[in-house]
Amino acid sequence: MFDVYKIRKDFPILSREVNGKPLVYFDNAATSQTPQAVIDTIVDYYSNYNANIHRGVHYLSQEATDVYEEARKKIRKHFNAARLHEIIFTSGTTHSINLVATGFSSILKKGDEIIVSALEHHSNIVPWQMLCERTGAILKVIPMNEEGALEMDAYDALLSEKTKLVFTNHVSNALGTVNPIKQIIDKAHAVGAAVLIDGAQSCPHIKPDVQELDVDFYVASAHKMCGPTGVGMLYGKEEWLNKLPPYQGGGEMIAEVTFEKTTYADLPHKFEAGTPNICGGIAFGAAIDYMNAIGFDTIAAYEDELLKYGTEKLLEIEGLKIYGTTENKTSVISFNIEGIHPYDIGTIVDKLGIAVRTGHHCAQPIMDYYKIPGTVRASFSFYNTKEEIDALVEAVRKAKMMLS
Ligand code: PMP
Repeated sequence: MFDVYKIRKDFPILSREVNGKPLVYFDNAATSQTPQAVIDTIVDYYSNYNANIHRGVHYLSQEATDVYEEARKKIRKHFNAARLHEIIFTSGTTHSINLVATGFSSILKKGDEIIVSALEHHSNIVPWQMLCERTGAILKVIPMNEEGALEMDAYDALLSEKTKLVFTNHVSNALGTVNPIKQIIDKAHAVGAAVLIDGAQSCPHIKPDVQELDVDFYVASAHKMCGPTGVGMLYGKEEWLNKLPPYQGGGEMIAEVTFEKTTYADLPHKFEAGTPNICGGIAFGAAIDYMNAIGFDTIAAYEDELLKYGTEKLLEIEGLKIYGTTENKTSVISFNIEGIHPYDIGTIVDKLGIAVRTGHHCAQPIMDYYKIPGTVRASFSFYNTKEEIDALVEAVRKAKMMLS
């Protein structure tokens, strides 16, 4: 039985106060909170076996290497990659996307086409625009509709033998929309294009199976799923990772170095130059263990309950509009109140101890579509409660009263 009050005890931060009120943390789509098990893993690393990995013969180095590589195994298992060396540690989703986009510089030619969706975070737009500048490739956009869904007929029309790559998020960070990625992947493959899926927002809620999806690249950040900041992963099919050149040069990523010629290490090390975020990688593994112990089906079912409750209660406020669909989405509610700037609502609810995000959420094209400067975004996690949603609704009502 899922007991949210018991779960909350795992998160020390949830018992603190902000502005003299109990903290209500509804900015989970920006970063999730950290359970004690993950904090303990970090403390244990620095207290007991902090050492550089892979190249040391001494005991601590081998211990750190073993635990770090154990974390890679946990990540492989979680995403169901076929091979361990298809999991590359990165500093996060942004790094993973840039690694792939830079690698495609040597693959794309002038006039090739790449397709992005209208629902993307800037980190899944800008690296590809930079790739187009370098190669002369052309960026095409799958449009969205009022419901915050992608226009799949338009996607069909964009695909052709010129399409080399398609990249979209699994879940939109601004609206919570779950995109039909299996369909997107299959259609891209039918014209011979590769697909990268940005899983930054899906991973806290959904356990993706990269083999079943048959996706070419899947990327995520640990800090969205109860892990620390500054670490994440890139899954790439072996054949693709072998085709891409290294992203950065340095130690760890080489086989042999002479001034005449350097040869590169095998996967995954070819893409892991320099000393990585060792503790972060290990803590990422601990976060995955923590979430799996609760279970992703349990998490999704409970968060869906919160989403339905929050949607219903917020919509009772006159003049409040929720952007995008209210179904087939993760627990994100992006809203505005007629005539009031989202920033002002965010500031007032913060004074009442409630953390929401306001602004364009690094997804400016979505805001442009709705012709708004931004939204208030409340994003719920499995450690949030209906009472906290009541506090938010009350705070938004107060803000509305003060600002109208
Ligand atoms: N893509 C999406 C959909 C996101 O929500 C985020 C984080 N807000 C990112 C990419 C970037 O992730 P990071 O900052 O961890 O690299």
